[in-house]
Amino acid sequence: MVKRDAQQKHMMKGYCACGRKNGFAPSPNYCSLYCLKFMTEPADGYKRKTHYEDWQGTGTFALNPVHPKIECDCEWCGDSYKLSYAISCANKSYCGNICMRQATQGKRSKKKKMLNIGGMVRIMRVLRYYKTKMSANDISNHIKKWFSCDCSSGSVSNMLRYLCAKNMVYKYSMNELGLMTYKIKNEHTPLKQLFS
Ligand SMILES: [Zn+2]
Ligand SMILES: [Zn+2]
Repeated sequence: MVKRDAQQKHMMKGYCACGRKNGFAPSPNYCSLYCLKFMTEPADGYKRKTHYEDWQGTGTFALNPVHPKIECDCEWCGDSYKLSYAISCANKSYCGNICMRQATQGKRSKKKKMLNIGGMVRIMRVLRYYKTKMSANDISNHIKKWFSCDCSSGSVSNMLRYLCAKNMVYKYSMNELGLMTYKIKNEHTPLKQLFS
């Protein structure tokens, strides 16, 4: 175990700056969603100063102040919730169980077809996170790493067709590798709104 020195933003290979092992799939330098936000997003009332910089040197035990809870937007409904540092909660993406269930369940379409909401939410979360043009294959690889679930580029393509038809995603003509690429249309629209 690495000695935790909360005052020193050390970047040791294999470890997050907080001292825990790193490996949060979308940003592998950090251990969790909490630390990604804590170290990179501005603290309340600041333009640049991060939560981490704001927190340094605070607390009764100067070397090891308690990590504050930070505000986070629910991936499904967009409402804010509190994200805490404890490893069991540090990757929470939804404000509660109801949103988590709605974002991962299947749903019947108007034509009675079963829609894989969970699969499409994963695609939208990848596109929302990277904010860049990606091929179905890129998206499939990210989903495998991030959500540890199998999702072929073929099934990603099928779901992208639905997402494009519903105006949630832009489709671009072939790139230099001969692949179609896709980009999210509005990364701020709550997914709940898009799928209801
Ligand atoms: Zn960390
Ligand atoms: Zn929610």
